[in-house]
Amino acid sequence: MFDNLSEKLDKAFHILKGHGKITEVNVADTLKEVRRALLDADVNFKIAKDFTARVKDKAIGQDVLTTLQPGQLLVKLVKDELTELMGGDVAGVNLQGTPSVILMSGLQGSGKTTFSGKLANYLQTKKNKKPLLVACDIYRPAAINQLHVVGDSIGVEVYSEPENKNPVEIAQNAIKHAKANGFNVVIVDTAGRLAVDQEMMDEIARVHDAIKPQETLFVVDSMTGQDAVNTAKAFNDILNFDGVILTKLDGDTRGGAALSIKSVVNKPIKFVGTGEKMEAIDVFYPDRMAERILGMGDVVSLVERAQEQFNEEEARKLQKKIAKNEFGFDDFLTQIQQVKKMGNMKDLVGMIPGASKAMKDVEIEDDAFKHIEAIIYSMTPLERKKPALIDVKRKARIAKGSGTKVEQINQLMKQFDQMSKMMKMMQGPGGKNLMKMMGG
Ligand code: GDP
Repeated sequence: MFDNLSEKLDKAFHILKGHGKITEVNVADTLKEVRRALLDADVNFKIAKDFTARVKDKAIGQDVLTTLQPGQLLVKLVKDELTELMGGDVAGVNLQGTPSVILMSGLQGSGKTTFSGKLANYLQTKKNKKPLLVACDIYRPAAINQLHVVGDSIGVEVYSEPENKNPVEIAQNAIKHAKANGFNVVIVDTAGRLAVDQEMMDEIARVHDAIKPQETLFVVDSMTGQDAVNTAKAFNDILNFDGVILTKLDGDTRGGAALSIKSVVNKPIKFVGTGEKMEAIDVFYPDRMAERILGMGDVVSLVERAQEQFNEEEARKLQKKIAKNEFGFDDFLTQIQQVKKMGNMKDLVGMIPGASKAMKDVEIEDDAFKHIEAIIYSMTPLERKKPALIDVKRKARIAKGSGTKVEQINQLMKQFDQMSKMMKMMQGPGGKNLMKMMGG
């Protein structure tokens, strides 16, 4: 995420680190590089220029040059300014109505349908809501099917009327259906086009006027940079929407849309999409994002994600197994699955301070655990409990079954053995505190 931008900003601050004494000239040079980094990220020229002007004013105001660590102070000023640029405070969604109606808008391919599903899943699992998804795309039957597939995958009902060609009616009927059946959130997915066109705008404006949603969200593909900003402007002029959803942040190395949208439409980014899976949704925190962009990591989000997956009951059971030397490959598999639920590996690494930079040349597979899982699935239940039973012959068989090499199996077994020993040690007198720290 935003790797290019992070790298360029890091280089900009290098100018300050290289000099014994920091002068006005190198501060100016640094800010010039910061501006260039923003422009390369596809941030609009005026926004980039104003940005560095504000940082410069603050730097002068706070007498940066006379402070103990001018470089660090300047990084902090840039961080604060980035936070402001992306909206300052975190913005929530309005869930006041009964039901509360959320209207999704955006171009075709922006990730609207996927995000509608993610939001429904988020509200259902994290906010205890009973959402209803509504398919209002009357042009593409495939779009209706797609929403049904998404709904099925997360166990959320989808309302559609494949024969009805009037999106206003469909949306209104869906709200009636929701009221009659105890749904407290209605998420209306609408038709998108490949580009902004009048007919689409008229249609979504009609739906908007008829159902008066509590929230109108504009979904946009963050990888489209300045185009994303222009589209946002066009939709905002018609809908006066409440918030922006930036999707595909996982593939966005530049970050221009994230940095520009707030200044242009003056609406907050509320959520971001970071992958194709239903769990790949994050509340957007401008300050945490600014820290990530500056390579400071985002430990708060990392810990939050770990806590979400953490189940005390399970942890206690696990602890008992470790104490009794019964920790097996099945338990290991469960652990892997929990880590996977926290997000994709690249994203997690990006949350560790400094790790993104240190690992920038390391190829991290999206599914880094694929081979490990395949190996474990090829073991018999007894072997998973007692790995010592796996002899040379069985290793060859497991390698064949899992499409891996015997060396990979040896490596996994060695790692597993080390891990088991370490866990056992942590159970000992000195390890109690460590386990406590981990929540056990
Ligand atoms: P719609 O036409 O606006 O409804 O867009 P879709 O929901 O069909 O999404 C278009 C494509 O983008 C699909 O292939 C999605 O899987 C993909 N997509 C959506 N959100 C994300 C995301 O956050 N990250 C990634 N990598 N892909 C996404």
